[in-house]
Amino acid sequence: MEKNYRIAVLPGDGIGAEVMHAAQAVLEVVQTRVGRSFAMEWLPAGAQHYLDSGVALPEKTLRQCESADAILFGAMGLPHVRGADGTEIIPQLDLRMHFDLYAGVRPIRTFKGLPTPLSNPKAEQIDLVLVRESTEGLFYARGRGDVRGDEEVYDTMRITRKGTERICEFAFRLAEERAQRLNRPGRVTNIDKANVFASMAFFRKVFDEVAGRHAGVNADSGYVDAMALNLVMKPWTYDVLVTENMFGDILSDLIAALVGGMGMAPSGDIGDKHGLFQPAHGTAPDITGQGKANPTAMLLSAAMMLEWLAMRSGDTALADGAKLIERAVEQVFASQQVRPMEFGGTHGTAAITEAVVAAVRAR
Ligand code: ATP
Repeated sequence: MEKNYRIAVLPGDGIGAEVMHAAQAVLEVVQTRVGRSFAMEWLPAGAQHYLDSGVALPEKTLRQCESADAILFGAMGLPHVRGADGTEIIPQLDLRMHFDLYAGVRPIRTFKGLPTPLSNPKAEQIDLVLVRESTEGLFYARGRGDVRGDEEVYDTMRITRKGTERICEFAFRLAEERAQRLNRPGRVTNIDKANVFASMAFFRKVFDEVAGRHAGVNADSGYVDAMALNLVMKPWTYDVLVTENMFGDILSDLIAALVGGMGMAPSGDIGDKHGLFQPAHGTAPDITGQGKANPTAMLLSAAMMLEWLAMRSGDTALADGAKLIERAVEQVFASQQVRPMEFGGTHGTAAITEAVVAAVRAR
């Protein structure tokens, strides 16, 4: 009997559901190509669900995610739906904490056939992964803001040895894997602000200790301000980047811009027991309901999910499925068959999805 994998699907708000339909269509073709079956259970959660029911992340949804093999997530949050303290309803942050998804993995690479905003021809060599610590850092302050009347507010950054060690270990292991696959030396670059904050000096100290245990990988550090510059000036020189939660949040968008926009940036939120995969973009209320969303980030996130499931289960057919999606995406852009509206093209969600589905079928 063919192996069955249970995938908890959280489409969420805005373009979340639109790009999730694309992922479902592609995964349905992939499953028949690799001889596996994916049971995709669509589950309610998000800002709209909060408006409708008073609950953003229902207990039942959480339980289904817990027992699933992997979680596939669209996008959640709407600008006009806010809690009492003025912050948005963002269940993805609760999921990260609940499942201890400490590693936010954001790979970025240039796709042939699509323009990049950088004029340097070396931009076509961009292939890097940002690893964002996702359970502490400045985001530790979420829900804990110390508001003193109408005069002062404190948000505290928390950096622990345990949190820093495990994220740095993750980054070095990833660099080792990439070095082997790409047949070249690996490199991990730590991004901090160790010249100003004690928390960041501590992050760097722990990073250096972990680097000492991975002698085969080149390790270096840079300050976040200088790195913001370097990532625009020479992003093709980087391999794996590791950083604190807030810096990672900001730099994720910056590196997505390097290859043309949020619609090209997949991500995985990975812990020791669970994995959640989602496009790096948000709900994009400005283009919701217009069929304009580029589903590529969602499709590449689904590929990351299959890759992660393959690694955990040892089922190589899933790794083949991941490759099928990646190659199909590369093909539809390289052949100029489609160009997303995000890149000034005329192709929306449906056209890109159809092209990728056809390419997966034909491979
Ligand atoms: P969040 O705070 O959740 O990251 P946001 O509103 O800051 O959300 P996004 O929702 O990612 O950011 O949108 C940023 C910009 O990128 C918007 O102009 C949006 O239309 C565009 N965008 C985001 N995702 C896509 C996509 N898949 N296809 C096309 N454009 C997108």
